Amino acid sequence: MIIACLDLEGVLVPEIWIGVSERTGIEDLRLTTRDIPDYDELMTRRLSILEKNQLGISDIQEVIAGLAPLEGACEFLEDLRSRMQVVILSDTFYQFAVPLMQQLGWPTLFCHDLEIRAGDGRIVNYHLRQQDPKRKAVEAFRSLNFQTIAAGDSYNDTSMLGEADAGILFRPPDNVVQEFPDYPVCRTYGELRAAFGRASEEIEGLS
Ligand SMILES: [Mg+2]
Repeated sequence: MIIACLDLEGVLVPEIWIGVSERTGIEDLRLTTRDIPDYDELMTRRLSILEKNQLGISDIQEVIAGLAPLEGACEFLEDLRSRMQVVILSDTFYQFAVPLMQQLGWPTLFCHDLEIRAGDGRIVNYHLRQQDPKRKAVEAFRSLNFQTIAAGDSYNDTSMLGEADAGILFRPPDNVVQEFPDYPVCRTYGELRAAFGRASEEIEGLS
């Protein structure tokens, strides 16, 4: 039995923080791990920007509810779920993902948690599930005797792609393609669907 492990942002939905930045007009929220490589420093900065602008979880959820999945993502996901089990492995937070998960038909999502203050709804802290969570999820599926095909778009996916039986890059930036030339690169959902088909045939041929 094969489990498809999909990244969320950049594969099924747009980058959430960039969407929040555009819709709130707060330019500093565009910063990503490319600008500030240390994730803890980046998140601490983001939370202090939200605090400074007096934005709570409901404000952010309202903004995120205005985002839509990428064009063709819902149809792609529905088709993939009819062919194999699908789990979304993401570095976002459950409290952010809810409006997008609703639009995607509530697929299974493994991600992180925000700590919300009761009363005013301010985001006071964040909690990562564990270090290297995408790779560890794939490792855990393997320990349960599942095989995995993983697809993602960026650096934070590469350890997951390496751990899986097959890895696929979807619309990756050029530097990721150059650094990880062994993975097939897909630019459309049609190509991604075909790449999943080829990978599952290969895996089933081996077993
Ligand atoms: Mg991504």
